[in-house]
Amino acid sequence: MSTRSLGLDDALHDYLLHHSLREHETLTALRQATTKVRYSVMQISPEQGQFMALLAEMLGAQRYLEVGTYTGYSALAVALALPHDGQVVACDISEEFTSVGRPFWRDAGVDHKIDLRLGPAARTLDGLIDEGHHDSFDLAFIDADKENYETYYEQALRLVRPGGLILVDNVLWGGDVANHANQEDSTLAIRQFNKKVKDDHRVTLSLLPLGDGLTIARRR
Ligand code: SAM
Ligand code: CA
Repeated sequence: MSTRSLGLDDALHDYLLHHSLREHETLTALRQATTKVRYSVMQISPEQGQFMALLAEMLGAQRYLEVGTYTGYSALAVALALPHDGQVVACDISEEFTSVGRPFWRDAGVDHKIDLRLGPAARTLDGLIDEGHHDSFDLAFIDADKENYETYYEQALRLVRPGGLILVDNVLWGGDVANHANQEDSTLAIRQFNKKVKDDHRVTLSLLPLGDGLTIARRR
């Protein structure tokens, strides 16, 4: 019984994983490999990957747009949930990080679905809009540099179809969004983004305390 979201201590988090996580063996292997990569805490949690895959399935998604791929866990989790002819456009600036993920995409048999675009994501998304891909994605995930979240969100609103979902990660930023002693650029950017989306009537909205905070915005 609760009128608010539970905080999860280690025992309850373990319970949640033991009673709900169905992680594909290649996702487990990729998570293991990523522990040896710089900034491995950037990877999404396995329960978040499973939730995103469920959303893709619920949407009957064919096309998934990702901004911030790192070693490819979220791209792989969603690619596995797409049909054989589904498509992922995965944007990142790092060859170093994304090259870790490619062999795992191959092992899982989904590399043919994943179109990795290396370069600044704002430019990649502008390119997609210019090429006529507006209204063509079912699901988008924004998880790159926080200072550009508003830009990515505006671009995703054009690229995702009406009824499609835009997921935005790290919107609780380790709790720092509510700690006004923290005035770092990334924190200010996330606060500004959260304020904007709260009043954005182009979308239906929920902010879930999953992982580091996940906003789900459904394009109206
Ligand atoms: N979604 C990933 C996962 O499931 O593991 C984690 C993404 S990580 C939090 C953020 C990524 O954004 C990094 O790999 C980084 O290289 C990338 N990035 C940072 N600035 C970027 C930019 N301007 N354009 C594209 N990617 C960028
Ligand atoms: Ca993240």
